[in-house]
Amino acid sequence: MLAPGATIGILGGGQLGRMTALAAARLGYRVHVFATERNSPAEQVSAAATVAAYDDGAALARFAQAVDVVTFEFENIPAAAVRRVAALKPVMPRPEILEISQDRLHEKDFLNRVGVATTGYREIADAAALRRALAALTGRAVLKSARMGYDGKGQATVGADTPPGEAWRVMGAGRGILEDVVDFQCEVSVVVARGADGAMEAYPPVENRHVNHILDTTIAPASLPQETTRRAEAIARDVAEKLGLVGVLAVEMFVAKDGRLLVNELAPRPHNSGHWTIDACATSQFEQLVRAICGLPLGSTERHADAVMKNLIGGEVETWREAIADPSARLHLYGKRTTRPGRKMGHVTRLVPRKT
Ligand code: AMP
Repeated sequence: MLAPGATIGILGGGQLGRMTALAAARLGYRVHVFATERNSPAEQVSAAATVAAYDDGAALARFAQAVDVVTFEFENIPAAAVRRVAALKPVMPRPEILEISQDRLHEKDFLNRVGVATTGYREIADAAALRRALAALTGRAVLKSARMGYDGKGQATVGADTPPGEAWRVMGAGRGILEDVVDFQCEVSVVVARGADGAMEAYPPVENRHVNHILDTTIAPASLPQETTRRAEAIARDVAEKLGLVGVLAVEMFVAKDGRLLVNELAPRPHNSGHWTIDACATSQFEQLVRAICGLPLGSTERHADAVMKNLIGGEVETWREAIADPSARLHLYGKRTTRPGRKMGHVTRLVPRKT
């Protein structure tokens, strides 16, 4: 066990690192961030920071020497950097899990191997395979780059009429994945925490609504039949166990019109759809991560209110004035200096009395 007073290293300097650092500080831990830019959202609230590129081996070694345990706050950290750090200090979740989640094909192959349902998909290895696959399509399909995709980047709906050159550019001219379109009622996610002793705590499924492929609103909990809620939680626990996760995992799923639950994506870290847990639950997803990687018992996920979380994206951050004056709203700003369209600048959680 790592007792309070120990130093937690976080790879990545974004808002997820910031909120993890705040949770860690509350429990008396020090946080040391590794980020590629100075004054990152996480650095602003941490005890120390190493600012360097992810291929700077000396900086990674210095960072590892300064901390007791390491976690990461976003998926696209180069695997080589994580492995370098893992050779010196424990990294949790383990780097192999990060690598599965970095590649949509690996992720779906893993899920199907362990018996977790996903939509139908096939690998698109190169431009010739893409041309053949497009020509064979009878309906529409979703083409995604296998790697480095997030918030709908590197993704498009395609059909036999899509010019192959255009589709190739969407894939970033790398490997791709072509997925069957899911006819869904809604999109949900489950955040689950797992400790080194195998103990697990899951939050209820929440409904996620996207605008321009970016998460806009999370409704917690999702309004689902009890049986669907139970199945969604069971899937998340099953995936965490099969991964041998120590940390926090978000499992994004489609609730198909025919009632099936199909896993779309895994994120082995705190997730935007779990931000509501800071204000509405006994233990937040960020505190669960700190507890899991430090070997402390996981906290209760008990919910004292239902919640609606609205992301403040780009210019929406200007609405902070209304949020701060609204007694039902809890405002979170990430300390980002420049506002850009599509950039997550903060979020507001509104608490509502529990329905169930
Ligand atoms: P992703 O980057 O995989 O999370 O996809 C972003 C969004 O695109 C999802 O949240 C869905 O709204 C939509 N989407 C992705 N894949 C599919 C699919 N196979 N069928 C239908 N909608 C999809």
